This record gives sequence, structure tokens and C-alpha cells, in this order.
Amino acid sequence: METIELLGKPVADKIYLKISDKVNKLLSNNIVPKLSAILVGDDPASQIYINKKNEMFLKMNCKSEIHHFSENTKNSQLIDIINKLNKDKSVHGILIQLPLPDHLDSNKILESINPNKDVDGFHPINSGYLFQGDPKYIPCTPQGCLEIIKYYGINVKSKHVVIIGRSNIVGKPLMILLSQKFDFGNATVTICHSHTQDLSEHTKRADIIIVAAGQPKLLKRSMIKEGVIILDVGINRVNDNSKKGYYIVGDADYNELLGKAFAITPVPRGVGPMTIAMLLYNTVRSAEKSITLYN
Ligand code: NDP
Repeated sequence: METIELLGKPVADKIYLKISDKVNKLLSNNIVPKLSAILVGDDPASQIYINKKNEMFLKMNCKSEIHHFSENTKNSQLIDIINKLNKDKSVHGILIQLPLPDHLDSNKILESINPNKDVDGFHPINSGYLFQGDPKYIPCTPQGCLEIIKYYGINVKSKHVVIIGRSNIVGKPLMILLSQKFDFGNATVTICHSHTQDLSEHTKRADIIIVAAGQPKLLKRSMIKEGVIILDVGINRVNDNSKKGYYIVGDADYNELLGKAFAITPVPRGVGPMTIAMLLYNTVRSAEKSITLYN
């Protein structure tokens, strides 16, 4: 069997086309969608991610600003800036680049964002709407996975989906999305985590596996059944002797799975490009909603 490579780029490009139309309409109403991102500390990976987001916003004729705070910033300082951004009508989306340093209270900080500007979808109010089957802002990576599923016509209805990872950012929202009575839901979902006793017992029974564990090459050939579809969310840096000093691998052992899986997203070039596209999409939607909110 020749395994199909599920690339993120064509899916993201389709979203950008849709966004571009929306942005043009907003610009003609003198509204420029704007994201305010907050970065704490000097983690190189976080800096790369936030700069990539910034570049894409500018490329799509939107505005983006980065508020960069030092590693030892206090909760209160972040909440102060968030309160200002909440009130600023020119700001449509507020993003906290995660993970925050350990001394900060991530939940408290995320909760201080106005849910209408919570374009990452991490505010408990937005998690609640998602849980109830009436999502307002869906976290970007799970939303991106859903777009990949739609674009490639993957049927999830009545299928057994195994998700590896239960974070609030990826695993849990995906579990809710795929098990809801949505058009692209109605799957039977099993969610696995580090306390799952025998991971392969579950993965071997899966029609679709979504792996978001942050463990390089965790999913092996012996753990899947023939013909499974795999979405690999993992982005792991593995140190090497290259100029960059590392290379990127997913949570699935890609080369091993070729020939046995029906289709798989590669890493990089799979789920990765979707996260920024969905962030932009959510921010533009927030800008659209601001017309009715503030007028
Ligand atoms: P977290 O570390 O928050 O969560 C990882 C989850 O995987 C946890 O639920 C953990 O279990 C589970 N887990 C870890 N090891 C195992 C194992 N051996 N077997 C089964 N489950 C395991 O990670 P995130 O959800 O934030 O991210 C997951 C991966 O996705 C990372 O590689 C990250 O870089 C990537 N990512 C990619 C994005 C993209 O844009 N494509 C965006 C966001 C993340 P437990 O709960 O018990 O600890």
C-alpha cells in the first residue's frame, strides 16, 4: 500500500484565500484585524513561533504586535497589560505564547483575557461553549486538524478515533470536537495519556489516530493496524550536529509507518502550517464580530 501524505499547505492556502476576502471587506470598512501577542522570557522555540505568527499577520495585511516581557515578570504585570488590551478597540485578538515560566499562573492569566478576544480559544468560557457543542473560538491546532479532516474528505463519523495526549491545547478539544454531534464529529473517541496501561492495545483498534504527546517517534509500526489514518501533531526538537543544532520530528515514526498506514500527516509540513492559519482566521472573525459589538 502506498501511504498518502496529507500535507497542510493546500489546506492552509484554502483558509488564507477565505481570510483574504474577509480582510479586504474589513479594510474597506476601515477595520484592520489586529493581534496582540504576549511573550514572556527568551525561549528560542517560543520566539520562533511568535515571529512566524507576526510575519503571517503582516503578510495578510493585518496588524500584529508582540509585547515581550522578561522571564521574571509577575502575574499582575501580565494581567495589567491584558486589561489594557481588552479595552483597546483596535485589538481583536490576544494571544499568550505558551508555555509560560513556571512561577506564573497560566490559568489566571488566560482567564483575564476578554473571551471575545480569546482567539486561541483557551478561556474557560470558550472551553465551556465548545463542551456544550456551541463553539465560539476553537483552539487553533485542533481546529486545524479538523480542517485537514474536512479537506481530505476523511470520514470520522462512526469511526474509532484514538487520541494520544489530553492537553487543554490539543487532545481535550479534539476529543470534544470529534465526539460531538457535528458534521465532522460523531466519532467514537478514546483518549490516551501517560497513565494508559497498554497504548498499543488502543491504537491497534483505531481507524484514525491523532498523536499529540510531545514524544519523538512514539507511534511505531507495530502499534497500528493496516489502513489507519494518522494525524501527527507532535513537533519535537532532536539535537544533532547540523548547523541549526537540531532537527524536527513528529510523535509518529513516519518512515516506519509508510506502507502500513493509509494516510499520514508529515512533520514538518503537516498539521504545523494549520495552527497559524486558524489563529488568523479566528482573529479576522473577531474583527468581523467587533462591528456589531462596538457599533
Ligand atoms: P503536553 O505536554 O501538554 O501534553 C502531552 C500529552 O501527551 C499529555 O496528556 C501526556 O499525558 C501525553 N503523553 C506524554 N507521553 C505519553 C506517552 N508515552 N503515552 C501516552 N501519552 C503520553 O503537550 P501539547 O498537547 O501541548 O503538545 C503535544 C505535541 O504537539 C508537542 O510535540 C507539541 O510541540 C505539539 N504541538 C504542535 C502544535 C502545532 O502547531 N502543530 C501546536 C501545539 C502543540 P499526561 O496528561 O498523563 O501527562
